[in-house]
Parts: sequence; C-alpha cells; structure tokens
Amino acid sequence: MAKVLLENVSKVYAGGVKAVDDATLEIGDQEFVVLVGPSGCGKSTTLRMVAGLEEISSGNIFIDGKRVNDVPPKDRDIAMVFQNYALYPHMTVYKNMAFGLMLRKYPKNEIDQRVRKAAQILGITDEQLQRKPKALSGGQRQRVAVGRAIVRKPKAFLFDEPLSNLDAKMRVQMRAEISKLHDRLKSTMIYVTHDQVEAMTMGDRIVVMKDGVIQQVAEPLGLYDNPRNMFVAGFIGSPPMNFFKGAIEQRQGGLWFVEQAPGDGKGFAIRVNDDMAKKLAGYVGKPVVFGSRPEDINDKQHAAFAEPDQTAAATVEVVEPMGAEIYLYLNTGRHSFVARVNPHQKADVGQKLDMAFDMRKSHFFDSQTEQVIV
Ligand code: ADP
Repeated sequence: MAKVLLENVSKVYAGGVKAVDDATLEIGDQEFVVLVGPSGCGKSTTLRMVAGLEEISSGNIFIDGKRVNDVPPKDRDIAMVFQNYALYPHMTVYKNMAFGLMLRKYPKNEIDQRVRKAAQILGITDEQLQRKPKALSGGQRQRVAVGRAIVRKPKAFLFDEPLSNLDAKMRVQMRAEISKLHDRLKSTMIYVTHDQVEAMTMGDRIVVMKDGVIQQVAEPLGLYDNPRNMFVAGFIGSPPMNFFKGAIEQRQGGLWFVEQAPGDGKGFAIRVNDDMAKKLAGYVGKPVVFGSRPEDINDKQHAAFAEPDQTAAATVEVVEPMGAEIYLYLNTGRHSFVARVNPHQKADVGQKLDMAFDMRKSHFFDSQTEQVIV
C-alpha cells in the first residue's frame, strides 16, 4: 500500500482547456480520499493522471515515493474501478476477475485463491462466479468490477464515480460496502464523485474542486463546520447553506449584520456575537455575506438558541414535510432561505414567523473575494 503525492500538477488539454490547475495534494498510506465537485471541475482528469491514463502537462506525481510521470499505467501497480464497470461480456464473472492475473502469468492456484478470497469479501457466490455479467444486477456487476481490482492487490485503488449507474437504494448499500472494504483492506483509495453525500459519508478527507482548482482539503465535519469560501459552504450540505447579502454596522456598542439586497433598502438586523465581532471589525460599513445553515435557523418559539436581537421576520412560502424533519422555505422580502425544523412544528404557507438564527454557528464571507472572514 502506498502514499500518493501530487505536486503542482496541471493538465491542459489540446485546445487549451485547463482541466486541472496547480493541484498539490498528499494522500496518506491507507487513507480514503474523496475528490468532489460539480461536473467538469477536473476530478476525473486528476484521477486519470494518477492512473497514468492521461499525460501530466506540468508538475509531478509520486506513488510510494517513486516519481511516476513517465511510468505507463500497467506498471504503476494501481487499480481503477469505473462507472460503467468495463466488464468483458463474453467471460464469466470468475474469468473477468481472473483475467488480469492470467495476463500477468500468475500460477493457476494463486489466481484461484485470490479470486475466491475477493468473491468471499464481496459476497459473490460460487454460482454467480459462473455467470456472465449480463445475468447480474447493476450492484452485482459493480461488485465484480471491484473484485477485479482487489485480486491484483494494488498499491492504491482509484474509483471514478463507481456508483452513478445504480439506483438510489443500491447506491446507499454499495457506499457502505466500499467503506467496509476500505476498513478491511486498509488500502489507499482515491474516490471521485459529484455527490457531496457520498463524499461526506465515505471520505477520511475530502478534496473540493471547482474549475480545476482545489478549493479546500479537510475532514468531512471540518469542511461542513469551517468552509473556507462560499463555494465550499454552498456545495457541502443539503439543503445548502443560506446566504444573505448585507453589511456590517456599528450599533449599540456592538456589531450588527444588516440585510440589504443590491439596489434595495435595508432589511433585518441581527447582532453579531462578540467573539466573531473582533474578526469583523475591519468590515464596518462594508458589504459582506452572512451564511447560516438550515438547522441553525428556527421559529423563535421553538429555538433553544433564540436571542431577542438575533431574529428576522419572514413569511413561509413552502412547507416540505420530510418525515424526520420539515424544510420550511421562507422569504424575508429580500432573500429566500430554508430552515430545517422539528417534524411536529406547525407552520402554514403565508404565515409570518420570527426566525431566530444561531449566531454561534454563523459564517461571514467577503462579498468581493467570497473567502470566509469568520
Ligand atoms: P469532472 O470529472 O470533474 O467532471 P473532467 O476532469 O472530466 O471533470 O473534465 C475537466 C475539464 O476538462 C472539462 O472542462 C472537460 O470538458 C475537459 N476535458 C475532459 N477531457 C477532455 C479531453 N479529452 N479533451 C479536452 N477537454 C477535456
């Protein structure tokens, strides 16, 4: 197993698209790292450069301390699992899993041992081993694709959106299975997805990318609690963090956030907690964006965190009962936002509520740079 290091790696495709821009990333031995971001942000290209399927335009990639820029894929000793499984349709499951080892001229009994061990780990039955891929469900095919990677005992596993073709229920199940597999094999895994829930639930660490640039690298809760910029704040979490435009004002001996949409009058005003006010001192009179997660907003009648000078009047526009919780879609007159509240709370469309914000968990961003202030 191995450490994977990317050092100032960039990729410019013919035609000039800069798919990856100066990526530096160290993936520890046995670590499970997830690359996540919207379609086209450069995740697959990054993974394919590690695999050797795509040439590196500049920078270096090291696997297990060895520079691999010019090492062909087959000699990098890593295994890749794709979204479309890429199984050989005319071969049995057994042969699909054995084939790579046969090409490498492994002894027959060694191959047999490895295939059966992988099948056992993945819950592939002896009977299934004799079937052709078309006689398997999507989830079973994906298991075979993973099995084919396991038998090689590679230095690292690379997964490129492996669960995208599965239905929602199967995706949740395979997500847990791949996590268990990581615990069991204790191998380095790099996993690409556009799905932030997959990233949050599977990764030891998450790498958020946008437009070819790494935005932030952190553990799941670190990303959630302390996003570095508005992109990460809005991408991680569902429903996403609410953003309110406005400005910081000095009032009554403290700092307040005053809502103001561009070209519009002032809206609600809420007091900023003292510990955060220190970091916002340089922003008095300047535009900022206030960010608050749906679970940090509630009707003041129901919020343990409610403070009288930290509420905003809003009108209920949509009530979405989710079973375990309710999403309330509200509007202040200048901004729409969503609150995630207790399933037994009553709220009616058109009702005016005083919504309390948990300002201990508030986020403020610079309007210009979109970087976090506090
Ligand atoms: P992601 O995996 O995050 O969806 P990709 O790494 O596939 O993103 O693509 C990143 C960018 O590079 C996109 O703008 C995409 O259109 C472009 N791109 C990907 N592959 C090629 C290619 N073979 N030739 C030219 N441009 C490409």
